[in-house]
Amino acid sequence: MSHKQETIALHAGQNKIETAPSRAVAVHRTTAYNFRDAEHAANLFGLKELGYIYTRLQNPTQNALEERVAALDGGAAALALASGTSAVFYSIINVARAGDEIVSSKYLYGGTHTMFAEILPTLGITVRLVDPLDLGELENAINGKTRAIFIETIGNPTLIVPDFEAIGEVAARHRLPVIADATFTTPILLRPLDHGVDIALYSLTKWYGGHGTGIGGAVVDSGRFNWDDPKFTNFVEPDGGYHGLRYAYDLGDLSPLAYILRMRLVPLRNLGAAIAPDNAWIFLQGIETLPLRMTRHSENGMAVAEYLSRHPQVEWVWYPGLKDHPAHDNAAKYLKNGFGGMIAFGIAGGADAGARFINGLELFSHVANVGDAKSLAIHPATTTHSQLTEDDQRAAGLPPELVRLSIGLEAPEDIIADLETGFAAAKL
Ligand SMILES: *Cc1c(COP(=O)(O)O)cnc(C)c1O
Repeated sequence: MSHKQETIALHAGQNKIETAPSRAVAVHRTTAYNFRDAEHAANLFGLKELGYIYTRLQNPTQNALEERVAALDGGAAALALASGTSAVFYSIINVARAGDEIVSSKYLYGGTHTMFAEILPTLGITVRLVDPLDLGELENAINGKTRAIFIETIGNPTLIVPDFEAIGEVAARHRLPVIADATFTTPILLRPLDHGVDIALYSLTKWYGGHGTGIGGAVVDSGRFNWDDPKFTNFVEPDGGYHGLRYAYDLGDLSPLAYILRMRLVPLRNLGAAIAPDNAWIFLQGIETLPLRMTRHSENGMAVAEYLSRHPQVEWVWYPGLKDHPAHDNAAKYLKNGFGGMIAFGIAGGADAGARFINGLELFSHVANVGDAKSLAIHPATTTHSQLTEDDQRAAGLPPELVRLSIGLEAPEDIIADLETGFAAAKL
């Protein structure tokens, strides 16, 4: 059939179902998918068959990313999302409703802290913040309304590493899932699901992507947690938005997918934090070198931490790989492939010296990000937390002399030489 150019411009050259066997994962820049026939469409909408309907729900490039992320952690399934922030938010609202509570580590990424302290309470979800190294405090915060325990694998800003297996035991006693933000470790340094964690989540924006080129997040579920308990209302009650499905009872062989499937069908489908296919592709590309990069980030991180701990202008260093770090025993027990690229240290001379130090750096980028291939530095007291008084900064665990470094992949000699330039500038 011969078509007019307007029609050709839309249809020529594309096979509707099969794509070429390209070796690299293709970017599927599509919003919707061809149904084979009316029955196929009906089956997809009726959940009788899983498949592609609309890219807010699912996309082949996104699915390739999800399979790769789930496989690296040994998880049953993963869901990729628009950001690490949406991964944190969905991981909570998938298990907790108004009236429910979460027990969380108080050592949190800044945005997560704001979400837990300011946003979740407006939705009726209370978060109790505890010291994750104090198991008694953590267990005492659990009550009949608790629906999950939330931790970070390396917590901000102290870089503490919890005892994951001990927390897993506390959680199991109370029939609660442990959710861990594992952004700072990635599955290369730690596979949280092997150590008592039920759900791991990531800001893919950071080391996972690794090059500072896209925003994305992912949630991985072990598939082992049993949601068949009346307190998990989201899983035991029929879902009015999806054919009355009860995720804890009705999935049969797919029951290990309950948590991720619900997250796809409820928060993702209806609140909409979908990852762009282009960003999913960027993260797939980044993951190809993740094991190589994490090893190098850790080697460079260790070299810089040792250099800093010997430096006369340094008052203290927080790095989980150093023996004097308060959580070094946990770090040594769980992080078998290195301690990562994040370092915090106190500079002699306080906030003013911190600002001069940052201004003196040339190789380091002065940005509000972590986990780039390039080395990054920031002085929280004069930037991200400058609106707080010194007392409030200290209460947030941020003394004025704290400098935060995200160590990149440059040659360690060059990184250290640049820090030396910063220290020279910090001296009056
Ligand atoms: C960056 C970050 C987040 C938020 O991720 P975005 O992709 O920026 O939304 C959450 N947790 C940790 C530990 C992070 O570093």
